Amino acid sequence: MSVFSQIIDRSIPATVVAEDDRVIAIEDIAPKAPVHVLVIPKTDAYANVSELAAGDPALLAHVVATAQRIADERAGGQFRLVFNTGEAAGQTVFHVHAHVLAGDLQEGTLAS
Ligand code: 5GP
Repeated sequence: MSVFSQIIDRSIPATVVAEDDRVIAIEDIAPKAPVHVLVIPKTDAYANVSELAAGDPALLAHVVATAQRIADERAGGQFRLVFNTGEAAGQTVFHVHAHVLAGDLQEGTLAS
């Protein structure tokens, strides 16, 4: 079970900033920007954004809409959305998640 599935079922703690029946959004434990929130589909069926786009595009759109809402609340609506895809690209948790980065981003700020 991924660390995110354990956060979703509350077996490990996280700071939850938004939640509904399809996604949870949490503060990243190691923030790389003033705003660094992870938007995570509750299903563990998709390892990365390409699988999610192919398997459930409506859920991907909901992830993006949730990211926008968080950025609206915290950063005037402007944000960077990062999906690390594959180990060589910095992905460490193979349960699809979007990094929402905002607030005085440095050039080249990435999630990992
Ligand atoms: P990835 O490297 O897979 O794109 O992103 C995984 C992210 O999850 C990293 O930014 C990392 O800091 C975050 N992360 C890993 N474990 C935990 C945890 O237990 N709690 C929270 N809140 N974030 C985590």
